[in-house]
Amino acid sequence: MPYFRSMDNPDTHELYDNFQRYGVPQLREFLRKRGLPVSGRKDELVALAYAASLMKLSLVATAAEKSADREQQYAATLMVDGERLPDPFIDLKSCWEDENTSISKWPPTMITDVQLYLQRHETDVESANLSKRLLKDYKEGKAFSYFSSQFLFEIFYHPISTNSPYCFLKTKCTPSQRISHEPHNVWVAINKESGEIKSSYCTCVAGLGRICNHVAAVLLKLDFCWKYGIVVKSKTSLP
Ligand SMILES: [Zn+2]
Repeated sequence: MPYFRSMDNPDTHELYDNFQRYGVPQLREFLRKRGLPVSGRKDELVALAYAASLMKLSLVATAAEKSADREQQYAATLMVDGERLPDPFIDLKSCWEDENTSISKWPPTMITDVQLYLQRHETDVESANLSKRLLKDYKEGKAFSYFSSQFLFEIFYHPISTNSPYCFLKTKCTPSQRISHEPHNVWVAINKESGEIKSSYCTCVAGLGRICNHVAAVLLKLDFCWKYGIVVKSKTSLP
């Protein structure tokens, strides 16, 4: 079987003759990897593969590859300071405390923590824009619009374990302007003592490895409740 150096390397291209020597299954594989149709006569497949090679079409991920990639990225969000946290959706089934019971235990996350967390995630234009908009809204006193009860559901607290330095907050958030739609599931991992935000995740398209409006809603609510003494008041009103 001839060896095709361009099979997985979109930067080089093959001679037309090389593609003709290729078998139909290999041609289909070459085309599939570039997201092109794989049906047709062999000469059509050869022509298409050759054209793709000339155009240096880049490889596209299959649905399975994309899902494996997402799984890997999700696993990375659970790695905090070299420790793998339990998955709040799968591993932590019980012991979630409702908002009324647990607000007094909320970590002291303030806007400076949010700012630092945003900066850490400013890896692309979209994230940088979200960061800018969020801080502008905050300065203009519009933070509440992110976590109004219309969008943000009750926040549940999980201590992970008594020894864990981290806790989880999880909630559901409706996509803004589309209140009738299925809400997104959000979690945030935070250092219990310092309030430092360690990781976050949301089931919306933007919520993996990035900060989205829904994660921002939880964080801004934390800042709000600390800033206006709501957490402290809940603490002192406890028996
Ligand atoms: Zn989201």
